[in-house]
Amino acid sequence: MRRPFVAGNWKMNTTRSSGVALAKSVADAVRTTRPAVDVALCPPFPYLIPVGEALGDSGVWLGAQNAYHAAPGAFTGEIALPMLQECGCQWVILGHSERRQFFGETDATINQKVQATLAANLGVIFCVGELLAERQSNQTEKVLETQMAGGLAGVSPAAAAHLVIAYEPVWAIGTGVTASPEQAEAAHAFLRRWLAGRFDSGLAETIRIQYGGSVKPDNARELLSQPNVDGALVGGASLKAEQFLPIIAAAAELSR
Ligand code: PEP
Repeated sequence: MRRPFVAGNWKMNTTRSSGVALAKSVADAVRTTRPAVDVALCPPFPYLIPVGEALGDSGVWLGAQNAYHAAPGAFTGEIALPMLQECGCQWVILGHSERRQFFGETDATINQKVQATLAANLGVIFCVGELLAERQSNQTEKVLETQMAGGLAGVSPAAAAHLVIAYEPVWAIGTGVTASPEQAEAAHAFLRRWLAGRFDSGLAETIRIQYGGSVKPDNARELLSQPNVDGALVGGASLKAEQFLPIIAAAAELSR
């Protein structure tokens, strides 16, 4: 059985003090309840160190929301992988639809980042997902296949052991509209079949596929109970402990 993995993507939110307070709340809850779930928080870059300190020995992982693939050098405004390692990161979110939409990231540039991040022994949460128009024109599987093939080109089976896929239909991100459990399960099952073809079925069975897109306490249980949904990448609801913790609890309950 795959251990569920719930990650909070804070995006460009929180202040230093509110982020540290939120991280402490999550760390305290995880330390106390020891849920059978992996948990990560992905704050903005300037707060990685204080949030990491707040997480302490709680077992909650620290993740970054982006990285640049090149070695440290003349790349104004970018963040190198060794810097993230030094900040205590274990995970990097790559391929998020907001990076694709607002910052011109392509399957090719995302692939450079995926390969470099895995080579640096950091875990990758690799996001894929279709636009509403693509779903409405029955292009969902074609889009997912293109994003998977492009983003994961050159990734070895050994490196794929440090990979998590996040299926995030773009029309569900930050909109309050969630994929139905059936829509999520169909996409996740497709992605697992794709992984089995690209690697092998044994490895595909071990790779966790998170669902992302308006996950909230009141819909988490239904989504997470789908056989191929192995956790959640949570945006808005990860900014409030009273919303994020019940999502972790729902995942923990289902993993028993
Ligand atoms: C996300 O940005 O990864 C996300 C899933 O956001 P939200 O939960 O707010 O839809």
